[in-house]
Amino acid sequence: MVVDTMQRPLRDLRISITDRCNFRCRYCMPKEIFNREYEFLQRDLLLSFEEITRLTHILTDLGVARVRITGGEPLLRRGVESLVADLAALPLRDLTLTTNGSLLARKAETLADAGLRRVTVSLDSLDQGVFAAMNDVDFPVSDVLAGIDAAASAGLTPIKVNMVVKRGVNSGEILPMAQHFRGTGHIVRFIEFMDVGMSNGWRLDDVVPAQEILDTIAERYPIEPVEPNYTGEVAGRWRYVDGAGEIGVITSISKPFCGDCTRARLSAEGVLYTCLFATGGVDLRAPLRDGSDDAEIAALLRATWENRDDRYSQRRSEATVNLPKVEMSYIGG
Ligand code: SAM
Ligand code: SF4
Ligand code: SF4
Repeated sequence: MVVDTMQRPLRDLRISITDRCNFRCRYCMPKEIFNREYEFLQRDLLLSFEEITRLTHILTDLGVARVRITGGEPLLRRGVESLVADLAALPLRDLTLTTNGSLLARKAETLADAGLRRVTVSLDSLDQGVFAAMNDVDFPVSDVLAGIDAAASAGLTPIKVNMVVKRGVNSGEILPMAQHFRGTGHIVRFIEFMDVGMSNGWRLDDVVPAQEILDTIAERYPIEPVEPNYTGEVAGRWRYVDGAGEIGVITSISKPFCGDCTRARLSAEGVLYTCLFATGGVDLRAPLRDGSDDAEIAALLRATWENRDDRYSQRRSEATVNLPKVEMSYIGG
């Protein structure tokens, strides 16, 4: 096991397997920037599934126990099921995937068969017009809902549904989302719009603080807090007093949680970042491809984590907000 300069262990790994996506969510990949001229990573620059699995295996020896596959849109990468199968063979406590749901109806069954345990599906609104304003490609809400149903039938449960809340765009959808998923066993997680990357035009005024989200729901359905599942869990947990299930809030702006942050992120081209808001990372593709053995790579990973002092959200200020940061679609949400 390895700990950083703030005694935080390394427990979670988020693996981005592609920087491409079929959505253009305004808060993540705005069309003005992620257009035809944008240079996505070329195939040979991406880590292969063998390289990802080798790295993850080394990281399990350093303490990683939970792995999430993400992107970009991870289900766009061909053969993702075989990566799931390779990772499922490692000693992990949890293996999950975050998706926009567009291909989930087609893939849920094979992903579950390959050994995926659960999925998180992003869905910012149940209203077609509002959803279109968020994803900017007019993707049908009904297809995402069909994906969620397919995931439930395949046993990829409990399903989490991520909703990024942007004031004045989908903030009117908080209650309808809570209402729709109450009693289904799915857990809606309301996410404060974050200042990741450099291109989403983030302004503090667009953020709806978690307390306001909770108040909106509690006015209609009484809720009470629930103990976290484990130290370092990202979402604050709440349950409906009437037993209709659970919701979560991700308070990265209003109540940062860096003190418990045990997450590392691997970009699709093999750069390891120790913070979502990192300005730089450590290249692992070179050692993976130059014949370095597992012990050498493990030493590099250990040194990286031992030097870690990231706590961006807690330090958030004018100075850091203006530093160059990597994009969410690249580093993986
Ligand atoms: N494409 C997949 C999806 O959308 O679920 C996986 C990658 S996406 C980058 C992972 C998560 O990050 C999604 O739930 C998305 O809503 C969230 N996200 C992206 N940009 C964000 C931002 N600026 N603030 C908060 N959450 C964001
Ligand atoms: Fe694509 Fe996910 Fe980013 Fe939306 S949030 S643009 S679906 S990577
Ligand atoms: Fe972890 Fe960085 Fe987010 Fe803080 S800002 S919780 S260190 S990823």
